[in-house]
Parts: sequence; C-alpha cells; structure tokens
Amino acid sequence: MPRSRLSLVLLVAAGTASAGSLHGILPQDINRDANACTDFFDFANGAWRKQHPIPSYMDRWSRRWESGEVNKEHVRDILTEVSAKTDWPQGSAQQLSGDYYAACMDEHAIDARGMAPAQKLLDDVSGMKSRADVQRVIGHLNDVGIAAPFALNSGQDLHNPTQVVAQIGAAGIGMPDRDYYLKPDARFVEARAKYLEHVAKMFELAGAKPNVAKANAATVFAFEKRLAEASLDNVALRDPKQQDHTMTFAQLQALAPAFDWGAYFDAARIPRADLNVTQPRFVQQFNRELASTPVDQWRTYLRWQVLNASADTLPTPFVAQNFAFYGKYLSGATEMKPRWKRCAEDTDALLGDALGHAYVEKYFPPEAKARMQDMVKNILLAMHDTIDGLAWMSPETKTKALEKLSTFNPKIGYPDKWKSYDGVRLSRASYWNDREAALRWNVTDDRAQIGKPVDRARWGMTPPTSNAYYNPLLNEIVFPAGILQPPAFDVNATDAVNYGAIGVVIGHEISHGFDDQGAQFDAQGRLQNWWTPNDNAQFAAKGQCVVKQFDNTFIAPGLHHNGKLVLGESIGDLAGAKIAYRAYQKSREGKGPEPTIDGYTPEQQFFIAWGQWRGDETRPETQRTMIQGDPHPVAKYRVNGPLSNLPEFREAFECKAGDAMVRPDADRCEVW
Ligand SMILES: [Zn+2]
Repeated sequence: MPRSRLSLVLLVAAGTASAGSLHGILPQDINRDANACTDFFDFANGAWRKQHPIPSYMDRWSRRWESGEVNKEHVRDILTEVSAKTDWPQGSAQQLSGDYYAACMDEHAIDARGMAPAQKLLDDVSGMKSRADVQRVIGHLNDVGIAAPFALNSGQDLHNPTQVVAQIGAAGIGMPDRDYYLKPDARFVEARAKYLEHVAKMFELAGAKPNVAKANAATVFAFEKRLAEASLDNVALRDPKQQDHTMTFAQLQALAPAFDWGAYFDAARIPRADLNVTQPRFVQQFNRELASTPVDQWRTYLRWQVLNASADTLPTPFVAQNFAFYGKYLSGATEMKPRWKRCAEDTDALLGDALGHAYVEKYFPPEAKARMQDMVKNILLAMHDTIDGLAWMSPETKTKALEKLSTFNPKIGYPDKWKSYDGVRLSRASYWNDREAALRWNVTDDRAQIGKPVDRARWGMTPPTSNAYYNPLLNEIVFPAGILQPPAFDVNATDAVNYGAIGVVIGHEISHGFDDQGAQFDAQGRLQNWWTPNDNAQFAAKGQCVVKQFDNTFIAPGLHHNGKLVLGESIGDLAGAKIAYRAYQKSREGKGPEPTIDGYTPEQQFFIAWGQWRGDETRPETQRTMIQGDPHPVAKYRVNGPLSNLPEFREAFECKAGDAMVRPDADRCEVW
C-alpha cells in the first residue's frame, strides 16, 4: 500500500527546484480594508465573498464549496461519457453508473409515470391489517433503505472492534432532531407549523383530499413526536457511552416483545447474535407503538415515510415540495440544484465505486497521493511532538496517547479494494426501480458485514466526496480524492497553502482521535479508558474552556452555538491548526523559508490559506439549523475561533493584546 520512498524523495526535490512556479495564496481574495487582528475571517477572504454571492441553490459558499461543486462537474463529465454508449457489458461499472445516471436524468419519463412505480410499496403499506403485517412491511422498507421507525446497520463492537455486530438505532422522524418536536422556542414552534403543512401537501400530491391530508399530517406528527421524545438529543448523541448497550438477542426480544425479531433477522439474513441497541428507550417506545397504536395510524405513518424517503425519485411536484421544506425553509436556498447535479450526487451516493475509478484516474495522480502521504506523516510527527511536550499530562497517559497515535491508519484518495456491485441489475427503463435496486444492494452489502471480522479496507465515503473523516473504532483518518483538489491541495501549490488548507484538515482529523469523543477510544479502537483520573480531569477542564467560548459565540442576537455540541470539531480545528503549523515550519527546515507574496510572510500565508479555503458565507437559515444540530461551528468561527487562541497567529500578524483576534490569557484555550 505505501508508495516507495524513492518516488516521494524525487517529488519533493522536483517541487523545490520549481518553487518559483508554484502558486500560493490568492491576494485578490483578501479584503484589504479589514484588519487581520480584528476579524481575520473578513480579512482573509472578504473580497472573494463580496464578489461571489452564494449561488441560489447553495446554503453556503466559499472556494471550499466551489471546489466540491466542480467535483460534481467532473462526475457529470464521466457519467455523460459512459452513458453515451449503450453497449457496455451488463453489470460493468460503466453500464451500472451510466444507465443509473441516464434513468435519473429522464425527468420526462419520471413525470409521465406519475405514482405508478411507487404503487407496489404504497399498496404494501395500505394493505396492512394486523400487527404481523406492520412487522412484515417494516422489514420490506428497511430492505430498501427506509429506516422507519428504527435503523439497523452493521457496526463495530465497541469493546471488541475487530468484530462487526448488528446495531439498532433510532430513526423514523422527518424533522432534523427531537428538539424540533418538543422545544417551546419560537423557531421550533414555527418549524412544526411548516412541517405539518409540508406533510399535508405531500399527502395531497399523493392523492389525498385536503382535509384527509391535514388529518394525516397530524397523525404523522403525533406519532413522530412520541418517537422523538424517546430519542437522545444531539449532545447525547456525541457521547459513545450513552449508546453503548450490548445485549444478547434474547435480551433484545425481551426489550421489545411485540416485534418478532427472530423473523426479522432471519428475513434480513442477520445472525441472531449479541448486538448493540444504541437507544434502548427508543426501542421500548417502538414496542409500545407496535402494541398499542391502531394499525390505521401505522398505515398513515409508514405511507409518509415512503413518500418522504422517495420524494426525489417521484415526479417533479414531489421534488419541488420536498425542496420547499428541506431546501428552502430549513437551509435558505432559493432554487433547486440543476437536475444533472442532483443525479450526479445520487449516482455517487449509491454507486460511488462504479464511477470512482474513472474519477481518480483523471483527477488524482500518483504524485498527489505521494505528496499527501508525506504531509500526513509530517503532521502525525507534529502531533507526536506536541503530545510529548505537554506540561500537564503525566508520563503514564502520554505513553498511552503516543501508542494510540502510532496505530493511526491514514487512507488517501481511494480504496485499495473497489465495490463491484455484483448482482445489481440496472437499466434506463425506470429510475424508481434502479434506485430501489441500488439501495437494496447497499443495505445487503452492509448487513453482510455483521457477524464477521471487520474489513479494514472498506471506506465510509466515496472517492469524489469533498470531505474527510476520522473513525475512532478503526483509528483511521480518511481523505477521499474529492477533497484533495485545488485550492485545498495541489501538487503545484506552495507548502504554505497546502499545510494551511488541507494540512489543517489533516491535523483536524488526527485531533479527532483526541477530542471529547475520540479520547474515549484506545489504540485498539476499544471504548476503554486510558487516562489517569487526574489527566482526564485536566483534559475535561481544557474542553470546558472551548465549550464556554462557543456558548458565547453568537450568530444573531439571542442565538449562540451550543459549546458541548461543537466541542469535538472545535478541538479538531484548534489542535489541527496548531500541529499543521508546526509541521509546516518543520517541513521547511533545510530548505529555507518560502518567498513572501504581496508582502505577506510565509507564516501569514499559512493562516491566510486556511481563511481562504474555510471562509464560507453561510445563509442565516443554515446557520440556525447548524447551531441546533451540526457538530461543526459556522465557518466564520472555524476561522476566528481557533486562530484567536493561537500565539502563533498572534505573532505572525503582530496582533496586540486587546485585539479581537487575541484572546486574553485568562480566556485562551489550548487543549493539545
Ligand atoms: Zn471534524
């Protein structure tokens, strides 16, 4: 798997020799009227934002998102090319992805067929007469990825992560989380009214009379509200200990006796073995619904679940109504993405490995992978030195932390083993059938992992995805080719840009292994404490400092971040920027500093690169939705938040005590 050291050395040498032609930060994006020490977000990227308003179909915008949208053009080009040919071998990556995309693009055929393709599934639901029928239909819906009311997935055993077990979690609500159903705040009251309207409209589109549709919406809402009451909130969902409920199969049956789990597991071909029920209280509530809610209410609830999950596969009026609530109301976008973009996203989501091969061949050359491996290695070293140098941590805990760091597994670009989608049959005849078949394949593929040793080669994101992740159970950091694109990462960019943009992302993902959540997992990926009580208490206090800062970070009068919710991501940004900066400086040893650009020093360029890549303008609606449910802070505070705590930033820009970008010592946070 690792590339030879030889090619790595050659690449670095080549990069140095042609340093003059490498591109650096983008001076034209800087707002020169702003002061870097007052509002760095405004300074680094303000001019770009002014010239590039958020496109109508996006909820936020920066070069980071622009690059993600460019990926979709690349995906479209690949799909357009393969779908132009109709004689690919059946089941080949080209046939599957090309036909899927073509069927999705055929809006005319989709509209002409109306509800007909969905009828079989909807008839299944409306034909339910008994509890046994409800049970059977829940099974059918889960088979095609409709997780209502619960979700069953494969997951690693939290205490023995080399083994994969079944995991049952809460699902089955249409609003983002439990608070939307329960909290008295005006914004949630308003969201509930909008949601009721939306659900009613969807029922109407599916053929119900307005008064019936309204009554149905009320039934759905009451049903979902009971499920929401039994679900964990967003902060609790970040705590792995609260979702650690390993039980035997018999205990599951005893927990929810109204459901025949044996029949369900057998039909889904899942072994009747020990499993993790992440939210037992939710499963008990499910049991109560099954035992006491009349079947006609189940019919209404599950009919809604089908319509909601399939909205984008149905004719145009459903797609438009779905967008009106989830896109317009919750995110503030004013227009839908063009059809080709939605189809490219959908093809990538369900058949990502079928088109991913062509994507990486074109957009992720071997020298990019070698350069990334080099940077990851350097940033891991910087984390090593940082942990080693901590004054507050005992040698005992340090040893454990370094042991954990040494087992990190970086995955870069694309999987070594590609999914082949064996047995999935797709054609251009019906988007609905294709989507169902692709979903069914993905569900089956996931369930097939249960009861087996973990397959470390699997990826949780597709190659064109513009994102990255850390998985604490595998102790792996994963960077798909889709995020390793300009301007975050470029083999032709200076080190200042690469370390300041993708380098901070790498540092961020590494730091997730040591955030409020990741720090609970040991070197083997087990949910097991490795901290001395004293070190743990100090770590918690350092986290509390970050919580306090974000509890006081407002997006509008009266509306602030939830410090506990964004703690992990903010530790990631804070430590990520620090170790990437450290690695950047180290990478220049023996090579001398990089040249100044427009008068900005290399150190300043590092921070400007972060501000320019991460500098999203975010719609107010999206900001509100984010502070409620997104563990990531709004972008402005992912720039100003961490940097205002870093002495390295202060030095680079010669900021003074009292400047907004310089936290007073008493308020300054440093976790790692
Ligand atoms: Zn993160």
